[in-house]
Amino acid sequence: MNKIVLPVICLGILLCALVHPAFCAEESSRYVTLRYSDRKLLNAFNDQLFLGKRLAYSLRKKNPLTVRGEVLAKIDLVIEKAEVVLDMFPDNLHITVILLPSSEAVSRVYKKKYGKNVDNIAYYSLSEDTIYISVPDTRLQVLAHEVGHAIVDHYFKIRPPYTIHELMAQFTEKHITD
Ligand SMILES: [Zn+2]
Repeated sequence: MNKIVLPVICLGILLCALVHPAFCAEESSRYVTLRYSDRKLLNAFNDQLFLGKRLAYSLRKKNPLTVRGEVLAKIDLVIEKAEVVLDMFPDNLHITVILLPSSEAVSRVYKKKYGKNVDNIAYYSLSEDTIYISVPDTRLQVLAHEVGHAIVDHYFKIRPPYTIHELMAQFTEKHITD
């Protein structure tokens, strides 16, 4: 490592810490930008997210070499499968997924944004194109549900009524392992 590279890296880390104190790591794939505070959380998320037989087979074919690569490949596969389940393929779908350490942390983010107390393990913010998810509560169905909301939101030019939005998310959740 030469003398110039080190200060540049240090400055990068410092800037990242100033801009996103809670989310210092950010990775992108075809469909997602993933943010998380530390590696431990990323590893835990990867351990929690079992894909089921069919999607796991597709994952093996992609052969990711790192945990980071595996997590991004898993989320992309869930999104692709959810599109097939809903038969909706919106153009240029790209969302943000933020990993949080607990359901309390998810509720805190929600409360800060909307001023309401809710007991959520995950939610999709329509205005931010972002899924917030509690890592200890992560399951394939939970992620699929929120991804369902994201796809529905991108597919329709006029947003469907809340109940229909929710029904389609539930449908995605139910059929993600088909
Ligand atoms: Zn929902």
